[in-house]
Amino acid sequence: MTTFASTPPRRPNLPEWKFTVVESLDVAPRMRRVVLTADNLDTFDYKPGQALVMQVPLADGETGRRDYTIRSFDKAAKRLAVDFVLHGTTPAPTWACNAKAGDEIVARGPRGRTVFNPSADWHVLCGDETCIPAILHIIEDMPAGTRAFAFIEVSGAEDEQELTTQADAKIEWIHRNGVHAGPSSIMLDRIAGFEFPEGDGYAYLIGETSNVRAQRHHLIGRGFTRDRISSEGYWRPGRIGGHDHVED
Ligand SMILES: Cc1cc2nc3c(=O)[nH]c(=O)nc-3n(C[C@H](O)[C@H](O)[C@H](O)COP(=O)(O)OP(=O)(O)OC[C@H]3O[C@@H](n4cnc5c(N)ncnc54)[C@H](O)[C@@H]3O)c2cc1C
Repeated sequence: MTTFASTPPRRPNLPEWKFTVVESLDVAPRMRRVVLTADNLDTFDYKPGQALVMQVPLADGETGRRDYTIRSFDKAAKRLAVDFVLHGTTPAPTWACNAKAGDEIVARGPRGRTVFNPSADWHVLCGDETCIPAILHIIEDMPAGTRAFAFIEVSGAEDEQELTTQADAKIEWIHRNGVHAGPSSIMLDRIAGFEFPEGDGYAYLIGETSNVRAQRHHLIGRGFTRDRISSEGYWRPGRIGGHDHVED
């Protein structure tokens, strides 16, 4: 059974952080980075791939929860970066585009189970542009020589980003070439042609919920056991914030 559990209304166990914006900048034409700081960030701990639940200002003066991945963290400098896909004039990208030094935002976290699994012989990571922060950060942090295969669906070449890693990582950028982000078989078609290496693989499937679900079913059909897949819906058309568990 596929479960689309919405974000629970309260997150009592997640620590709350009162961030101040240090700066914001464009890392790609459709990706805005906001660098945050907080006095107590020396106590912050997380794993690459985890996210913050940010209290983003809404047009009506209230705030709404939006999940955003920790793109990088410099504990000594107390600097944490978050990258926002500029997919439209919705609350989170609007806030990121206007964020300036001194602005404040509250977030809870870290949260999320899509983190490096050291027990695997090789790793396959799939996602769209909302997953670039998670996929790149996980690969950057992998031990030297780790075999990783990343498939990242983006609008075009201008969305691609560089990364530095000691892992044995192959990054393949899949261009939508004019097709809108959302439910599609673009990624599924690509991973259907991906030949699995020898040994035990581990899959990280994130992005638009229906795409994640289809990729998960595909990998299970090719012999992946459920305990070797981490899958989470990061967004879907019509949903406001939150995340979808994809566990069938
Ligand atoms: C664990 C986790 C980590 C995430 N990390 C990141 C991250 O690092 N960077 C990032 O950019 N996003 C990330 N996301 C996705 C992000 O939280 C959602 O895209 C969120 O809905 C954006 O909020 P919003 O205010 O822009 O739109 P909302 O107000 O939440 O949604 C309004 C409408 O916009 C549409 N929509 C939402 N997101 C997209 C999209 N990406 N493309 C096209 N249409 C969309 C939908 O139709 C939706 O109903 C993450 C999600 C999760 C669950």
